[in-house]
Amino acid sequence: MNAILDLQTETELTRLDTLFATQQAHFRANPNSSCEERLKDLEILRSLIVNYKDRLVEAVAEDYGHRSTFDTLISDISGTLHSLEYTRKNLKKWMKPSKRSAGLMLAPSKAYVHYQPIGVVGIIVPWNFPIGLSLSPLLTALATGNTAMLKMSEFTPKTNAVLKTMLAEGFAESKVALIEGEVEVATRFSQLPFNHIIFTGSTAVGKHIMRAASANLTPVTLELGGKSPTIIGPDFDVQQAVERIAFAKSINSGQACVAPDYVLMPAEKVTEFIDAYKAYFNSMFKDGINSKDYTSIVNQRQYQRLKSVLKDASDKGAIIDPVRPVAFDDNRHRMIPHLVTGVTDQMTVMQEELFGPILPIIGYQSVDEAHQYVLDHDRPLALYIISNDKALQERFVTNTLSGGVCINDLLMQVAVDDAPFGGNGPSGIGHYHGPEGFKTLSHAKTVLNRGSINFTKLLHPPYDTWFKKTIIRKIGG
Ligand code: NAD
Repeated sequence: MNAILDLQTETELTRLDTLFATQQAHFRANPNSSCEERLKDLEILRSLIVNYKDRLVEAVAEDYGHRSTFDTLISDISGTLHSLEYTRKNLKKWMKPSKRSAGLMLAPSKAYVHYQPIGVVGIIVPWNFPIGLSLSPLLTALATGNTAMLKMSEFTPKTNAVLKTMLAEGFAESKVALIEGEVEVATRFSQLPFNHIIFTGSTAVGKHIMRAASANLTPVTLELGGKSPTIIGPDFDVQQAVERIAFAKSINSGQACVAPDYVLMPAEKVTEFIDAYKAYFNSMFKDGINSKDYTSIVNQRQYQRLKSVLKDASDKGAIIDPVRPVAFDDNRHRMIPHLVTGVTDQMTVMQEELFGPILPIIGYQSVDEAHQYVLDHDRPLALYIISNDKALQERFVTNTLSGGVCINDLLMQVAVDDAPFGGNGPSGIGHYHGPEGFKTLSHAKTVLNRGSINFTKLLHPPYDTWFKKTIIRKIGG
């Protein structure tokens, strides 16, 4: 058995090197594709997604054991198609050279920035949204005239297989190629001298990627995670806050990088929040753990991780409140949301990104206390403010650092196609949505055209004439 696995890995490693060389050769032969060619690629991708939609939905559900069709359609498919459409509409404008001023010193001349494809892009994909997080960077790579190699997660084999067939139907492997494999293949993948790597995954693996990329001076975009806080203001109606938070935390059962990780709220309203959360969750998912609209934890490994986070919190004195009496299904790795109070920073629940249906709730006495808590912790990928108090909104927007902010809702900031998406510090580096994404995967090349009249000769030595001596005296004011 091991010999077979070794052979598969060896075959994939050889394939990896061959594909990389093939893509480099393709790029050398096609270094500057036109807007029409790129739009054609986007159209091919669009129709592939539409044609394969049902097979993709089924495949992710198989990988998860059970995944809500809504979760896949809204988060993986629809988001990608919207981004694609938005990119298609804006591409011509983005590709136009950007005129710049050359300044008086260089007159007469013209300056502009030419946005150029960079080459072969490596895309490393996590398991949680395997369709959206592979195809969204891919569409940016195609829109920028690059070739792309996708390294899929080893935890989504069924989805990988469908995506591989789908992409092969529309693109030659010299332009788009999909790679699978365990950590050995992943490691070699990150060591290839790509012209850019877009990595979506954990902060810990992100560090490996950046280390590997540094050997080749390959630029990286790291889309990582973290503990995204939700601050409920003292002014806000608890029932309404619960409805928004409970829905957001239920998408993919909390297995989303921008899921609300924990809640900071007025201490005196915590009990009301817990009661309302239970009632609202049960009204959304009437069959509880058996609800078909509720997604499973992706696999036993993640399920056991989440259970051990709960055990650690409970052992250290936290109160665990499952939102329904039947809270676990060990065989099918399904878990109902657990609300956790009485937490401390010594518990894993407040140290690691939860990435699942666990929601710690911290009661605060004053907004100052909540603000200080956020400032004392790592910069998150998202920060949610649930309040109509403008001063409170402004305070958190301007005096905290996070990848993005959403006021009076959750997750939806990701859907703003026209704006960048990405973290800061431990939650990520760089962006790939919107015009920022186009710029990330293009080389911004400054072109200075001095034209036919050129006064530079006036600066050549010797500097002994009155005119040149005057110029030298004037340098530096
Ligand atoms: P992960 O970091 O374990 O794996 C991500 C990818 O990296 C997988 O394809 C994996 O095979 C590969 N990989 C693992 N070890 C590697 C190595 N040593 N060298 C090269 N590649 C390696 O992440 P995951 O568990 O698949 O996904 C969950 C994480 O992803 C969470 O932390 C979540 O917050 C984050 N995430 C971030 C975003 C975002 O847009 N910021 C989106 C989704 C998920």
